[in-house]
Amino acid sequence: MLSEILSRKECAECRICCCFDSYDIWEAPVISPSLRTKVEELLPETEFVTKGDSFTLKMRREQDADLYYCNLLDRSRGCMLGGEKPFDCSIWPLRIMEFEGRRVIALSPVCPVVAKRPVEAVTAVAKKLAPTIFEQANKNPDLVKKYELGYVILVIEDKPTEQQL
Ligand code: SF4
Ligand code: SF4
Repeated sequence: MLSEILSRKECAECRICCCFDSYDIWEAPVISPSLRTKVEELLPETEFVTKGDSFTLKMRREQDADLYYCNLLDRSRGCMLGGEKPFDCSIWPLRIMEFEGRRVIALSPVCPVVAKRPVEAVTAVAKKLAPTIFEQANKNPDLVKKYELGYVILVIEDKPTEQQL
């Protein structure tokens, strides 16, 4: 979805966002119930953590480092889900977050490639994707993460979230 600012080649050489540490494991992608079925077909031994009406993957810590690789990462070929990645992964490094009672689209500081793109270009892509992103969040509110310092807010939704009404 972000092909205007990110190429497949750049991602293939990076894969940072398919690996977490204890500080950012909260970023583990949200797996919808239907996607969980697909994951179970691919990797029947997968364990899940419940997150609202959705799930995240239970990832194992590496023995010698504070790192958790996504169970779905094939280290030579990339994501085993191909075009059926979790929505979270399809918009990364954009995030949908709640900030002071409004949903916002924010940019994670973690992606080294998008961090070098002009912020105007990244904001233009975020604005273009905003209707799709907010619609997905309506369908699955588990996608909305609590705002974290350091994430650059690119788009603010016009209407406040229900808790603020
Ligand atoms: S961190 Fe950025 S460049 Fe690296 S794989 Fe993820 S989206 Fe691609
Ligand atoms: S689901 Fe796929 S794209 Fe998402 S973190 Fe795991 S391996 Fe990476």
